[in-house]
Amino acid sequence: ARVIANAVTREDEAVEASIRPKTLDEYLGQEAVREQLKIYIEAAKGRREALDHVLIFGPPGLGKTTLSHVIANELGVSLRQTSGPVIERAGDLAALLTNLQPHDVLFIDEIHRLSPVVEEVLYPAMEDFQIDIMIGEGPAARSIKLDLPPFTLVGATTRAGLLTGPLRDRFGIVQRLEFYTPEELTRIVRRSAGILGIACDAGGAAEIARRSRGTPRIANRLLRRARDFAQVRAGGEISKDVADAAMVMLKIDPAGFDDIDRRMLRMIMENFDGGPVGVESLAAALSEERGTLEDVIEPYLIQQGYIVRSARGRMATNKAYQHLGLKPPRRATD
Ligand code: ADP
Repeated sequence: ARVIANAVTREDEAVEASIRPKTLDEYLGQEAVREQLKIYIEAAKGRREALDHVLIFGPPGLGKTTLSHVIANELGVSLRQTSGPVIERAGDLAALLTNLQPHDVLFIDEIHRLSPVVEEVLYPAMEDFQIDIMIGEGPAARSIKLDLPPFTLVGATTRAGLLTGPLRDRFGIVQRLEFYTPEELTRIVRRSAGILGIACDAGGAAEIARRSRGTPRIANRLLRRARDFAQVRAGGEISKDVADAAMVMLKIDPAGFDDIDRRMLRMIMENFDGGPVGVESLAAALSEERGTLEDVIEPYLIQQGYIVRSARGRMATNKAYQHLGLKPPRRATD
């Protein structure tokens, strides 16, 4: 399986319970987000009200699910977790909402994938803590209004632009998660190593952090792979050199790119003359889903300045050519 894959693996799940931060203090990095949430949470608790609805967006693995649990924990309430595609009918959502206790958090992952019918039910629930449900069928059918306990909806999505306008407007708090710096990821790796009892020195942690595409989920995965490598080949301890050798084995390059990143860059340069190329053409040429390119692969390449995105498509930058040891074309814009 790809180390930078989007999907959460069984192994991820198994260690998750022990390493997932539970409080805002344990949630490392994302300083601006933490500072704001600390204030909003304290204010809501002081007023004995439910926290306003929170929308969290950012690429996979940056800590959206974790943050939703942290919010519930800091509020001292329970969290119910579901996801957009799982809620098939309006009745499914009604059942979830009517079972909440006052001030509970309802976490909806991939909230952009809610069906339009379910989304309609969500609007009055978010705004007035009320839902309209239909009882019966045919001519005898009637709609009844149900009052809900005041609750906090926490929605997560990869990009805010995926949400419909009316849904986005109903979130009072909108937080965007940023890629983590190597220093922040180093702290995350050291924390996880400590909890999991993995011997990893400062150099080893920094090396893993540098190769983790700004993403805690990847950092935690690379830490486990480096541990395996250290155990079998290097006497157990992860040093810089051991981490480095483990990354070579995993085919993760010094920039933290894996095979698909390099294929994408190479494709733009070699098959599309450096771009601009539309994301559809690129996805077809790479046999990848468009959504995977947009949500998982390209955000980091763009943030790091290897790709630029314009209205006409994606272009490889000189940095990308240098990274792969290719000669950049002469462009009028350079
Ligand atoms: P998302 O929901 O955005 O895909 P998760 O919340 O599942 O991401 O986080 C992925 C992993 O990264 C989890 O193992 C979690 O423990 C870790 N993690 C995420 N954010 C942080 C953070 N701020 N500090 C420490 N670990 C984090």
